[in-house]
Amino acid sequence: MDEKYIKLNRILDDALDEFTQETDEVFKTSNDRKGYMFKSASEYEKSFQKPQKCLFPECGSKSIVFSHTIQKNGGIHIIAENNHVYRPIFNEKTGKMSIESIGINKASTFPGFCKLHEGVFSVFENKKEIANDNEIKLQVFRTFCREFQTKKIELQYREKRKGEYLNLQKQRFTDVLYKHLDAEGFDKKELKDIKLDRTDYRLAYMKKEIKELQELIQVLKVKYYFPFSKDITKGSENIYYQAIKLAHLIPVGLSGAGYITYEKNNRLNKVQLLMNVIPQEDSTLIILATNKANKKILDRYISFYTQSFLMILVLIESWMIHVTDHWFIKPSVWDTLPEKRREKILSDILDIKFGVLDKYKLSIFDEVRRLMFNVIDNENNWANFNDITISFLKEERNKLIEEETYDIFPTEDILKIKGYLKE
Ligand SMILES: [Zn+2]
Repeated sequence: MDEKYIKLNRILDDALDEFTQETDEVFKTSNDRKGYMFKSASEYEKSFQKPQKCLFPECGSKSIVFSHTIQKNGGIHIIAENNHVYRPIFNEKTGKMSIESIGINKASTFPGFCKLHEGVFSVFENKKEIANDNEIKLQVFRTFCREFQTKKIELQYREKRKGEYLNLQKQRFTDVLYKHLDAEGFDKKELKDIKLDRTDYRLAYMKKEIKELQELIQVLKVKYYFPFSKDITKGSENIYYQAIKLAHLIPVGLSGAGYITYEKNNRLNKVQLLMNVIPQEDSTLIILATNKANKKILDRYISFYTQSFLMILVLIESWMIHVTDHWFIKPSVWDTLPEKRREKILSDILDIKFGVLDKYKLSIFDEVRRLMFNVIDNENNWANFNDITISFLKEERNKLIEEETYDIFPTEDILKIKGYLKE
């Protein structure tokens, strides 16, 4: 082994030492980090406006960009004001959730189906109501496809982002290495094609995220996409759903998916629940669906939450905060909420400790809630209520009293969870 080789090896070690001792190996300043985050966040938003593969069974043509998930004319239109609704959106600049106005032509769209297959959904697109079994199944399929497509787009994006991070990491290390080579009088060419295999905490997080997404997509494909596709094209009955029509208009359109994980025979099972809240004339259509193999779980879930109108309201508010941010609210309803509560609600969306089985603690729809209490008070049935019901009603009525202050879920926690900041 010659002297030069030994010396180069030492330089490599020194450079690696210096590199790994930096407080942040890859981002020198917090602006570097923010720049990387913002750039990728806007890329993520943009990838939803690019055509993808049509998800109609056995198609695979290029999709159009604006497939609606919730009907434009029936659902969203009913709660729109000046043809606009509000939706929650994560603002990468502030690191917070915010509410933004969106036109009903764009609300709830995703790159889902090609022109031809978008037509399959037009049977109810122009009707005000979703009426029969076939239409409900199409709606469930469409909701599923949005979730599926979103996860696939997210995976592409995460993989690309990991690649960019690796390049950045290599670039930073190369800078340090060249500095050391230079100081020892070596030419940069002495060390070419450097490979760096170093998993820092961000990479560890990215790898974990990618692995989980890949696994989820696989489950969704096998247990939901293929069986559901058969329902649509061959009339099989793999989609199991329950639809409830509520005789109140709850001014929100929502479409998303929640997951329940449970253990059976030492294996973890992930159940997907698909939910829709569709505003209709003076009523609300709620559809909850899953694969028929999970019928029992869905039945138990729904029978618990549909004991009363008020429970259904709680269910919908819980979905909005703990399950999906894919919802659209009537602007004036949001605007009339006290400012502190709006801030609290938005920050709670980021708190991912909660899921499909958790109840949300605050009221979003005060007017609907008040109306329901008017009915309850007029009926004056209190003598027949048991303790559980009475304490539930008390809790619900308290939601209408504004609190002095709220704990705001800190953005730093999110950044830590996402691996942007060290624990
Ligand atoms: Zn197609």
